[in-house]
Amino acid sequence: MKEIVCKLLVIGAGPGGYVCAIRAGQLGLDTVIVEADRPGGTCLNVGCIPSKALIHAAEEFGATKQMMTGKNAMGIRVEATTIDLARTIAWKDGIVGRLNGGVSALLQKARVKIVHGRASFRDGKTVEVETEVGLQVIRAETVVIATGSEPVELAALPFGGRVISSTVALSLTDLPKKLVVVGGGYIGLELGTAFAKLGSEVTVVEAMQQVLPQYDGDLVRPVQRRLGELGVRVLTGAKAKALSDSGDALAVETADGQQQQLAFDRLLVTVGRRPRTTGSGIEDLDLDRTGPYLRVDDRCRTSMRGIYAIGDVTGEPMLAHRAMAQGEMVAEIVAGKKRAWDKRAIPAICFTDPEIITAGLSPDEARAQGYAIRVGQFPFSANGRAMTMLSEEGFVRVVARADTNLVLGMQAVGVGVSELSADFALALEMGARLEDLAGTIHAHPTRSEAVQEAALKALGHALHI
Ligand code: FAD
Ligand code: NAD
Repeated sequence: MKEIVCKLLVIGAGPGGYVCAIRAGQLGLDTVIVEADRPGGTCLNVGCIPSKALIHAAEEFGATKQMMTGKNAMGIRVEATTIDLARTIAWKDGIVGRLNGGVSALLQKARVKIVHGRASFRDGKTVEVETEVGLQVIRAETVVIATGSEPVELAALPFGGRVISSTVALSLTDLPKKLVVVGGGYIGLELGTAFAKLGSEVTVVEAMQQVLPQYDGDLVRPVQRRLGELGVRVLTGAKAKALSDSGDALAVETADGQQQQLAFDRLLVTVGRRPRTTGSGIEDLDLDRTGPYLRVDDRCRTSMRGIYAIGDVTGEPMLAHRAMAQGEMVAEIVAGKKRAWDKRAIPAICFTDPEIITAGLSPDEARAQGYAIRVGQFPFSANGRAMTMLSEEGFVRVVARADTNLVLGMQAVGVGVSELSADFALALEMGARLEDLAGTIHAHPTRSEAVQEAALKALGHALHI
């Protein structure tokens, strides 16, 4: 048995853990990171990156299929188009492999020691890891739990065989002819849309009255319209009940109380993710929880001295960039810097077609918090660049305090708007006012001009509408 003693031990090399370890290494802390699987976590291996690769491939394929119809407005005609899904998946795996190597190299450059294996707590300062070369005990002054999350499994629809999680969906080399998706949230709609573009017949079963229930109706409507165009059947207010005896159909109770049988080749269950807090001794530590998540304060400290937690294991929003920001902050705190969580906004993007971005408060949220607000909304149908890209659907919306014009929130829906999220987050982080957005020259012709115009609209003098 080998023993390592270190200043900082990070458990889990997802976006939270690996960023924390890199920053700690840069700051000269003697740091060890333990990872049971491949570096990069859910995001890099089976989440953000592979899903965006598949979405992009489906988008390209879908565009060429549209060109076969002879109805392409730009006059492009394609005679035939095919996709080799096994090759698409191999391409995706290649990207993931390059990034795995990149994360390992960055950790090494920061002089972080990487231990491969599953960490299990002996006590709050000691873990043991079963590695390929035997048992490794690690004692640390400070421990960061960054063990992430895993898909929620429904009791009536256990994973296995034709019932799959997003992880399996992102590695399918045969296209399902009929795909039923249970859960019309982020993953269900991102992947459901991609499979529809690839050629699957997709049905989405969502328990709430609207898909993407966390967003307001104005933002979701263009996505619903596009799902309709793609032939995706959406059942809202519907309950998934049980599998048929043959395991190839799902009994569903629809909003009007009717029973339906949905036949499928694959059933993708995407009803949320839960924190990974079992199987590694975390459950035996005396850590306070908020629901199933580890409770942390504004410095990501848990209820046990010397133990921090970051990322998905600490709850919503379960987003990679939140995990990374927490990881960077914790490394600096452990190194003695004065830091606390003071972010004004965590932008969220849904990579549907069209994409949705939100940062800060929506109009309803701002009103609920007691603000008198002004709202400016500018449609892409009045934006030249959007017209040239056949993407006139959607808008940018700015929400500001009526008294000071301080920007409280920004939202958008439209093709490719994800790249505007940087503008949104920066504006909120810097405490921008409507005049700052309106007075910033936005290059022409770009879709970002809609941000400037939305602010001008809120001020009462939009120029292009
Ligand atoms: P994780 O990435 O889950 O990493 C935790 C790591 O800890 C894992 O590598 C795991 O193997 C390791 N681990 C766990 N227990 C142990 C142990 N006992 N010992 C050793 N190692 C252990 N977020 C976005 O912001 N944008 C997106 O576009 C996006 N798309 C997504 C698409 C899908 C299909 C999914 C599933 C998720 C997506 N997410 C996205 C969410 C994002 O992946 C997570 O928010 C992010 O990965 C959380 O990072 P983390 O470091 O907290 O945990
Ligand atoms: P989600 O919370 O986004 O969506 C789950 C959906 O399933 C909800 O709409 C919910 O109402 C529905 N649902 C729950 N139980 C149901 C049932 N029994 N029958 C039918 N519908 C049911 O969860 P997800 O899509 O699994 O994603 C998990 C997390 O991963 C997200 O919360 C997000 O934080 C992260 N993620 C982010 C991105 C991104 O940033 N682009 C992409 C994918 C995932």
